[in-house]
Amino acid sequence: MAAVDRVGRSGWYVLGDEVRTFERQLSELMARDHAVGCASGLDAIEISLRALGLRPGDEVLTTPFSAFATTLAILRAGGVPVFVDVDETGLVDLKLAAQCIESHPTIRYFVPVHLFGQSLDLNALQALKEKHDLAIVEDCAQAIGARSNGRATGCIGEAATLSFYPTKNLGALGDGGAMVFDDAGLAETARTLRDYGQAGKYVHDRLGLNSRLDELHAAILRTAFLPRLAQWTERRTQIAQRYLEGLSNPAVVPLPTPAGSEAVWHLFPVQTSGGGRDDLCDWLRKADVQASVHYPHLIPHQKGLEEAAQGYRVFGSLETAERLSKEEVSLPIHPYLEDAEIDRVIELVNRWRGS
Ligand SMILES: *Cc1c(COP(=O)(O)O)cnc(C)c1O
Repeated sequence: MAAVDRVGRSGWYVLGDEVRTFERQLSELMARDHAVGCASGLDAIEISLRALGLRPGDEVLTTPFSAFATTLAILRAGGVPVFVDVDETGLVDLKLAAQCIESHPTIRYFVPVHLFGQSLDLNALQALKEKHDLAIVEDCAQAIGARSNGRATGCIGEAATLSFYPTKNLGALGDGGAMVFDDAGLAETARTLRDYGQAGKYVHDRLGLNSRLDELHAAILRTAFLPRLAQWTERRTQIAQRYLEGLSNPAVVPLPTPAGSEAVWHLFPVQTSGGGRDDLCDWLRKADVQASVHYPHLIPHQKGLEEAAQGYRVFGSLETAERLSKEEVSLPIHPYLEDAEIDRVIELVNRWRGS
Protein backbone atom coordinates (compact mmCIF):
# COMPACT_ATOMS: atom_id res chain seq x y z
CA MET A 1 0.00 0.00 0.00
CA ALA A 2 2.93 2.36 0.70
CA ALA A 3 4.23 1.62 -2.80
CA VAL A 4 0.82 2.40 -4.33
CA ASP A 5 0.68 5.67 -2.40
CA ARG A 6 4.24 6.62 -3.41
CA VAL A 7 3.71 5.97 -7.13
CA GLY A 8 0.26 7.56 -7.10
CA ARG A 9 1.63 10.76 -5.63
CA SER A 10 4.72 10.83 -7.87
CA GLY A 11 2.73 11.57 -11.02
CA TRP A 12 5.10 9.32 -13.05
CA TYR A 13 3.53 5.98 -14.06
CA VAL A 14 5.47 4.40 -16.93
CA LEU A 15 9.24 3.70 -17.21
CA GLY A 16 10.69 5.75 -14.38
CA ASP A 17 12.86 5.41 -11.28
CA GLU A 18 10.84 2.53 -9.81
CA VAL A 19 11.37 0.41 -12.92
CA ARG A 20 15.07 1.36 -13.13
CA THR A 21 15.70 0.50 -9.47
CA PHE A 22 13.79 -2.76 -9.74
CA GLU A 23 15.74 -3.68 -12.88
CA ARG A 24 19.00 -3.09 -11.04
CA GLN A 25 17.99 -5.33 -8.14
CA LEU A 26 16.70 -7.99 -10.49
CA SER A 27 19.94 -8.10 -12.46
CA GLU A 28 21.82 -8.68 -9.18
CA LEU A 29 19.46 -11.46 -8.16
CA MET A 30 19.84 -13.14 -11.56
CA ALA A 31 23.63 -12.59 -11.56
CA ARG A 32 23.50 -10.79 -14.94
CA ASP A 33 24.65 -7.28 -15.90
CA HIS A 34 21.35 -5.91 -17.23
CA ALA A 35 17.65 -6.43 -16.59
CA VAL A 36 14.86 -4.98 -18.74
CA GLY A 37 11.29 -4.98 -17.47
CA CYS A 38 8.38 -5.62 -19.82
CA ALA A 39 4.68 -6.43 -19.79
CA SER A 40 4.75 -10.24 -19.52
CA GLY A 41 6.79 -13.41 -19.66
CA LEU A 42 5.40 -13.98 -23.16
CA ASP A 43 6.72 -10.64 -24.42
CA ALA A 44 10.06 -11.18 -22.65
CA ILE A 45 10.73 -14.27 -24.81
CA GLU A 46 9.57 -12.62 -28.05
CA ILE A 47 11.64 -9.47 -27.44
CA SER A 48 14.73 -11.47 -26.41
CA LEU A 49 14.59 -13.59 -29.57
CA ARG A 50 14.18 -10.50 -31.75
CA ALA A 51 17.02 -8.73 -29.92
CA LEU A 52 19.17 -11.78 -30.67
CA GLY A 53 18.53 -11.29 -34.37
CA LEU A 54 15.94 -13.98 -35.03
CA ARG A 55 14.55 -13.54 -38.55
CA PRO A 56 11.13 -14.77 -39.73
CA GLY A 57 11.49 -18.40 -40.79
CA ASP A 58 14.42 -19.18 -38.47
CA GLU A 59 14.03 -22.47 -36.61
CA VAL A 60 13.89 -22.44 -32.80
CA LEU A 61 14.33 -25.63 -30.82
CA THR A 62 12.01 -25.88 -27.81
CA THR A 63 9.93 -28.15 -25.59
CA PRO A 64 6.39 -29.41 -26.30
CA PHE A 65 5.68 -29.56 -22.56
CA SER A 66 5.42 -26.05 -21.07
CA ALA A 67 3.08 -23.10 -20.80
CA PHE A 68 1.75 -22.35 -24.30
CA ALA A 69 3.38 -18.91 -24.03
CA THR A 70 6.85 -20.37 -24.64
CA THR A 71 5.89 -21.44 -28.16
CA LEU A 72 3.56 -18.51 -28.77
CA ALA A 73 6.48 -16.13 -28.20
CA ILE A 74 8.60 -17.99 -30.76
CA LEU A 75 5.78 -17.79 -33.31
CA ARG A 76 5.15 -14.13 -32.64
CA ALA A 77 8.82 -13.41 -33.27
CA GLY A 78 8.40 -15.17 -36.64
CA GLY A 79 10.32 -18.31 -35.64
CA VAL A 80 9.49 -21.88 -36.60
CA PRO A 81 9.26 -23.96 -33.41
CA VAL A 82 11.00 -27.35 -33.55
CA PHE A 83 9.74 -29.57 -30.74
CA VAL A 84 11.97 -32.15 -29.11
CA ASP A 85 10.81 -34.56 -26.37
CA VAL A 86 11.36 -34.17 -22.63
CA ASP A 87 13.08 -36.71 -20.38
CA GLU A 88 11.56 -38.32 -17.27
CA THR A 89 12.00 -35.05 -15.31
CA GLY A 90 9.51 -33.32 -17.64
CA LEU A 91 12.20 -30.86 -18.81
CA VAL A 92 13.54 -30.84 -22.37
CA ASP A 93 15.87 -33.77 -23.07
CA LEU A 94 19.26 -32.19 -23.79
CA LYS A 95 20.62 -35.39 -25.40
CA LEU A 96 17.72 -35.46 -27.86
CA ALA A 97 18.21 -31.72 -28.40
CA ALA A 98 21.84 -32.44 -29.41
CA GLN A 99 20.70 -35.18 -31.83
CA CYS A 100 18.13 -32.86 -33.33
CA ILE A 101 20.67 -30.10 -33.91
CA GLU A 102 23.16 -32.57 -35.38
CA SER A 103 20.59 -33.69 -37.94
CA HIS A 104 19.28 -30.13 -38.54
CA PRO A 105 22.40 -27.92 -38.46
CA THR A 106 20.33 -24.93 -39.67
CA ILE A 107 18.92 -24.59 -36.12
CA ARG A 108 20.60 -21.61 -34.46
CA TYR A 109 18.17 -20.81 -31.62
CA PHE A 110 17.06 -22.72 -28.52
CA VAL A 111 14.42 -21.79 -25.92
CA PRO A 112 14.76 -24.30 -23.04
CA VAL A 113 12.36 -24.04 -20.09
CA HIS A 114 13.38 -24.54 -16.46
CA LEU A 115 10.01 -26.13 -15.74
CA PHE A 116 8.37 -26.67 -12.33
CA GLY A 117 11.05 -24.51 -10.63
CA GLN A 118 13.73 -27.10 -11.48
CA SER A 119 16.93 -26.10 -13.26
CA LEU A 120 18.11 -27.94 -16.32
CA ASP A 121 21.66 -29.27 -15.97
CA LEU A 122 23.54 -26.03 -16.76
CA ASN A 123 26.82 -27.82 -17.47
CA ALA A 124 25.09 -29.88 -20.15
CA LEU A 125 23.27 -26.80 -21.48
CA GLN A 126 26.51 -24.83 -21.72
CA ALA A 127 28.29 -27.71 -23.47
CA LEU A 128 25.44 -27.93 -26.00
CA LYS A 129 25.54 -24.18 -26.56
CA GLU A 130 29.28 -24.11 -27.14
CA LYS A 131 29.44 -27.21 -29.33
CA HIS A 132 26.69 -25.99 -31.69
CA ASP A 133 27.15 -22.23 -31.32
CA LEU A 134 23.49 -21.78 -30.33
CA ALA A 135 21.79 -18.54 -29.31
CA ILE A 136 19.78 -19.41 -26.18
CA VAL A 137 16.88 -17.71 -24.40
CA GLU A 138 16.29 -19.49 -21.08
CA ASP A 139 12.63 -19.40 -20.05
CA CYS A 140 12.93 -18.90 -16.27
CA ALA A 141 9.26 -17.96 -15.73
CA GLN A 142 8.92 -20.77 -13.17
CA ALA A 143 12.47 -20.79 -11.89
CA ILE A 144 13.49 -17.42 -10.42
CA GLY A 145 16.38 -18.03 -8.03
CA ALA A 146 16.91 -21.68 -8.97
CA ARG A 147 20.45 -23.00 -9.30
CA SER A 148 22.24 -25.92 -10.87
CA ASN A 149 25.47 -27.26 -9.38
CA GLY A 150 25.85 -23.92 -7.57
CA ARG A 151 25.31 -21.73 -10.66
CA ALA A 152 22.36 -19.38 -11.13
CA THR A 153 19.71 -20.60 -13.56
CA GLY A 154 19.47 -18.14 -16.43
CA CYS A 155 23.23 -17.50 -16.74
CA ILE A 156 23.95 -19.68 -19.79
CA GLY A 157 21.80 -18.10 -22.48
CA GLU A 158 22.46 -14.71 -24.09
CA ALA A 159 19.10 -13.92 -22.48
CA ALA A 160 16.90 -15.29 -19.70
CA THR A 161 13.26 -14.34 -19.17
CA LEU A 162 10.95 -14.01 -16.18
CA SER A 163 7.21 -13.65 -15.64
CA PHE A 164 5.58 -11.82 -12.73
CA TYR A 165 2.13 -13.31 -13.36
CA PRO A 166 0.53 -13.46 -9.90
CA THR A 167 0.93 -17.24 -9.42
CA LYS A 168 4.67 -17.22 -10.19
CA ASN A 169 7.20 -17.42 -7.34
CA LEU A 170 7.67 -13.64 -7.66
CA GLY A 171 4.21 -12.46 -8.72
CA ALA A 172 2.94 -8.91 -9.19
CA LEU A 173 -0.59 -7.64 -8.57
CA GLY A 174 -1.17 -8.11 -12.30
CA ASP A 175 0.96 -8.89 -15.35
CA GLY A 176 4.64 -8.18 -15.73
CA GLY A 177 7.84 -9.72 -17.04
CA ALA A 178 11.55 -9.11 -17.49
CA MET A 179 14.60 -10.22 -19.42
CA VAL A 180 18.21 -10.31 -18.29
CA PHE A 181 21.40 -10.06 -20.37
CA ASP A 182 25.12 -9.53 -19.94
CA ASP A 183 25.52 -7.76 -23.28
CA ALA A 184 24.74 -4.02 -23.06
CA GLY A 185 23.82 -3.86 -26.75
CA LEU A 186 21.22 -6.62 -26.38
CA ALA A 187 19.75 -4.88 -23.35
CA GLU A 188 19.54 -1.62 -25.30
CA THR A 189 17.80 -3.34 -28.23
CA ALA A 190 15.34 -4.94 -25.79
CA ARG A 191 14.61 -1.51 -24.26
CA THR A 192 13.91 -0.17 -27.74
CA LEU A 193 11.69 -3.11 -28.71
CA ARG A 194 9.58 -2.91 -25.55
CA ASP A 195 8.77 0.75 -26.35
CA TYR A 196 7.48 0.74 -29.99
CA GLY A 197 11.02 0.31 -31.30
CA GLN A 198 11.73 3.84 -30.14
CA ALA A 199 15.47 4.59 -30.05
CA GLY A 200 15.04 8.28 -29.10
CA LYS A 201 12.00 10.47 -28.64
CA TYR A 202 9.76 9.88 -31.71
CA VAL A 203 12.60 8.08 -33.49
CA HIS A 204 11.63 4.50 -34.41
CA ASP A 205 14.50 2.26 -35.49
CA ARG A 206 12.55 -0.99 -35.12
CA LEU A 207 8.96 -2.21 -35.26
CA GLY A 208 8.55 -2.78 -31.57
CA LEU A 209 5.77 -3.53 -29.09
CA ASN A 210 4.04 -1.68 -26.30
CA SER A 211 5.42 -3.91 -23.57
CA ARG A 212 6.45 -1.67 -20.71
CA LEU A 213 6.53 -2.55 -17.02
CA ASP A 214 4.40 -0.12 -15.02
CA GLU A 215 5.97 1.93 -12.21
CA LEU A 216 3.24 0.62 -9.91
CA HIS A 217 4.14 -3.03 -10.50
CA ALA A 218 7.86 -2.31 -10.23
CA ALA A 219 7.32 -0.48 -6.94
CA ILE A 220 5.19 -3.25 -5.45
CA LEU A 221 7.53 -5.98 -6.65
CA ARG A 222 10.61 -4.17 -5.40
CA THR A 223 9.45 -3.03 -1.99
CA ALA A 224 6.83 -5.60 -0.98
CA PHE A 225 7.62 -8.89 -2.71
CA LEU A 226 11.27 -9.09 -3.77
CA PRO A 227 12.49 -8.72 -0.14
CA ARG A 228 10.36 -11.77 0.77
CA LEU A 229 11.36 -13.99 -2.15
CA ALA A 230 14.22 -15.76 -0.34
CA GLN A 231 12.06 -16.71 2.63
CA TRP A 232 9.22 -17.79 0.34
CA THR A 233 11.61 -20.02 -1.60
CA GLU A 234 12.92 -21.49 1.64
CA ARG A 235 9.36 -22.32 2.71
CA ARG A 236 8.60 -23.91 -0.68
CA THR A 237 11.72 -26.04 -0.24
CA GLN A 238 10.61 -27.15 3.24
CA ILE A 239 7.20 -28.11 1.89
CA ALA A 240 8.75 -30.10 -0.96
CA GLN A 241 10.98 -31.88 1.56
CA ARG A 242 7.95 -32.75 3.70
CA TYR A 243 6.17 -34.20 0.65
CA LEU A 244 9.26 -36.16 -0.39
CA GLU A 245 9.58 -37.66 3.08
CA GLY A 246 5.88 -38.28 3.64
CA LEU A 247 4.54 -39.60 0.33
CA SER A 248 4.58 -43.39 0.38
CA ASN A 249 1.85 -44.47 -2.07
CA PRO A 250 3.63 -46.51 -4.78
CA ALA A 251 0.98 -45.35 -7.30
CA VAL A 252 1.91 -41.66 -6.80
CA VAL A 253 5.58 -40.93 -7.36
CA PRO A 254 7.25 -37.49 -7.33
CA LEU A 255 8.79 -36.67 -10.70
CA PRO A 256 12.56 -37.20 -10.71
CA THR A 257 14.56 -33.95 -10.81
CA PRO A 258 17.42 -32.98 -13.16
CA ALA A 259 21.00 -33.73 -12.06
CA GLY A 260 22.41 -30.85 -9.99
CA SER A 261 19.09 -28.97 -9.78
CA GLU A 262 18.63 -26.72 -6.72
CA ALA A 263 14.94 -26.08 -7.25
CA VAL A 264 12.69 -23.22 -6.19
CA TRP A 265 9.67 -25.58 -6.29
CA HIS A 266 7.23 -23.51 -8.32
CA LEU A 267 5.18 -26.72 -8.54
CA PHE A 268 5.32 -30.14 -6.89
CA PRO A 269 4.63 -32.59 -9.72
CA VAL A 270 3.87 -36.27 -9.12
CA GLN A 271 3.10 -39.00 -11.63
CA THR A 272 0.27 -41.47 -11.29
CA SER A 273 0.49 -44.92 -12.82
CA GLY A 274 -2.27 -47.04 -14.35
CA GLY A 275 -4.48 -44.28 -15.74
CA GLY A 276 -5.56 -43.03 -12.31
CA ARG A 277 -4.77 -39.37 -12.79
CA ASP A 278 -8.31 -38.00 -13.02
CA ASP A 279 -9.43 -40.22 -10.15
CA LEU A 280 -6.65 -38.86 -7.91
CA CYS A 281 -7.58 -35.28 -8.86
CA ASP A 282 -11.25 -35.99 -8.00
CA TRP A 283 -10.26 -37.64 -4.72
CA LEU A 284 -8.23 -34.61 -3.69
CA ARG A 285 -10.74 -32.04 -4.90
CA LYS A 286 -13.57 -33.78 -3.00
CA ALA A 287 -11.48 -33.23 0.13
CA ASP A 288 -11.09 -29.54 -0.82
CA VAL A 289 -7.48 -29.95 -1.86
CA GLN A 290 -6.60 -28.11 -5.04
CA ALA A 291 -4.96 -30.52 -7.47
CA SER A 292 -3.97 -29.22 -10.89
CA VAL A 293 -2.41 -30.67 -14.04
CA HIS A 294 0.70 -29.33 -15.82
CA TYR A 295 0.09 -29.79 -18.69
CA PRO A 296 -2.83 -31.83 -20.05
CA HIS A 297 -2.13 -31.05 -23.75
CA LEU A 298 1.17 -30.96 -25.63
CA ILE A 299 1.77 -27.63 -27.35
CA PRO A 300 2.04 -29.15 -30.86
CA HIS A 301 -1.46 -30.62 -30.37
CA GLN A 302 -3.07 -27.24 -29.69
CA LYS A 303 -5.50 -26.06 -32.35
CA GLY A 304 -4.14 -22.51 -32.24
CA LEU A 305 -0.91 -23.65 -33.91
CA GLU A 306 -2.88 -24.16 -37.15
CA GLU A 307 -2.98 -20.36 -37.45
CA ALA A 308 0.81 -20.12 -37.62
CA ALA A 309 1.58 -19.48 -41.27
CA GLN A 310 5.22 -20.52 -40.80
CA GLY A 311 4.23 -23.92 -39.34
CA TYR A 312 6.28 -25.96 -36.89
CA ARG A 313 8.25 -29.22 -36.79
CA VAL A 314 8.42 -32.18 -34.46
CA PHE A 315 11.73 -34.04 -34.04
CA GLY A 316 11.18 -37.77 -33.43
CA SER A 317 8.58 -39.04 -31.01
CA LEU A 318 7.21 -37.03 -28.09
CA GLU A 319 6.32 -40.15 -26.11
CA THR A 320 7.63 -39.03 -22.72
CA ALA A 321 5.83 -35.70 -22.93
CA GLU A 322 2.67 -37.59 -24.04
CA ARG A 323 2.92 -39.92 -21.05
CA LEU A 324 3.49 -37.07 -18.57
CA SER A 325 0.57 -35.10 -20.03
CA LYS A 326 -1.63 -38.06 -19.02
CA GLU A 327 -0.02 -38.93 -15.67
CA GLU A 328 1.08 -35.66 -14.02
CA VAL A 329 -0.67 -34.08 -11.02
CA SER A 330 0.61 -30.97 -9.19
CA LEU A 331 0.13 -31.08 -5.43
CA PRO A 332 -0.43 -27.77 -3.61
CA ILE A 333 2.75 -25.86 -2.84
CA HIS A 334 2.94 -22.19 -1.86
CA PRO A 335 4.70 -20.32 0.95
CA TYR A 336 1.61 -19.91 3.12
CA LEU A 337 0.68 -23.61 3.34
CA GLU A 338 0.83 -24.81 6.93
CA ASP A 339 2.40 -28.06 8.10
CA ALA A 340 -1.00 -29.48 9.12
CA GLU A 341 -2.34 -28.78 5.62
CA ILE A 342 0.64 -30.46 3.95
CA ASP A 343 0.25 -33.47 6.25
CA ARG A 344 -3.40 -33.70 5.29
CA VAL A 345 -2.49 -33.77 1.59
CA ILE A 346 0.13 -36.45 2.27
CA GLU A 347 -2.36 -38.51 4.26
CA LEU A 348 -4.98 -38.23 1.49
CA VAL A 349 -2.54 -39.19 -1.25
CA ASN A 350 -1.20 -42.13 0.76
CA ARG A 351 -4.76 -43.37 1.41
CA TRP A 352 -5.74 -43.15 -2.28
CA ARG A 353 -6.25 -46.63 -3.68
CA GLY A 354 -5.94 -45.97 -7.39
CA SER A 355 -8.70 -46.09 -9.97
C1 LIG B 1 3.90 -18.19 -17.06
C2 LIG B 1 4.84 -18.70 -18.08
C3 LIG B 1 5.12 -17.98 -19.24
C4 LIG B 1 4.37 -16.74 -19.65
O1 LIG B 1 4.39 -15.72 -18.74
P1 LIG B 1 3.24 -14.57 -18.80
O2 LIG B 1 3.75 -13.52 -17.89
O3 LIG B 1 1.98 -15.22 -18.30
O4 LIG B 1 3.12 -14.13 -20.21
C5 LIG B 1 6.08 -18.46 -20.10
N1 LIG B 1 6.72 -19.61 -19.85
C6 LIG B 1 6.46 -20.35 -18.76
C7 LIG B 1 7.24 -21.60 -18.51
C8 LIG B 1 5.50 -19.93 -17.83
O5 LIG B 1 5.26 -20.68 -16.75
